[in-house]
Amino acid sequence: MTKHANMVCIHCHLAKPRTDKCELCEESVCASCVIRPTPERVQYWSSTDRPKETECKWVCPRCFDETLEPIYERYDQALEAAHNTHYFPKAYRGAPPVLRKARQPVTVDNGVDREDVLTKLQLVAVQQGFNGLIHLEIESKKQRMVDGYSKMVWRGTALPADLDTEKLERGWY
Ligand SMILES: [Zn+2]
Ligand SMILES: [Zn+2]
Repeated sequence: MTKHANMVCIHCHLAKPRTDKCELCEESVCASCVIRPTPERVQYWSSTDRPKETECKWVCPRCFDETLEPIYERYDQALEAAHNTHYFPKAYRGAPPVLRKARQPVTVDNGVDREDVLTKLQLVAVQQGFNGLIHLEIESKKQRMVDGYSKMVWRGTALPADLDTEKLERGWY
């Protein structure tokens, strides 16, 4: 990114030394008015589901309000729905009340912990229009790092499914 000196900021209308183009509307915005979105705000969205606007680093306040806020709102709603999904581990012995199943299982790699992997899987299920997960398997393994240390990486797989919520509530499974 090139910094343009003394351009007039679209927001405060002043000519300021550290001014650059908003990555969304390309108007100039100064360093005091700029908003720098962080991709962590939508951390549970996989990089393929994540709208590319969330990866911007230099955005004017208007674009932030008009473009990013609605995305964050959509994310928060999806995340809330994700946290409310039911899931059944692969080892579950009963019969989950499945109404409809996805054709393909979903996989999440390189998770930082169990919670991270589970939330990402739940979020994908919600995005695909399902309310649950079946055949859920989450495992961790040690991965050796370049510097000789090792860390745990988490991986999960599950099949998104629509579950009969009435049966779930009554405990019929
Ligand atoms: Zn400004
Ligand atoms: Zn803008």
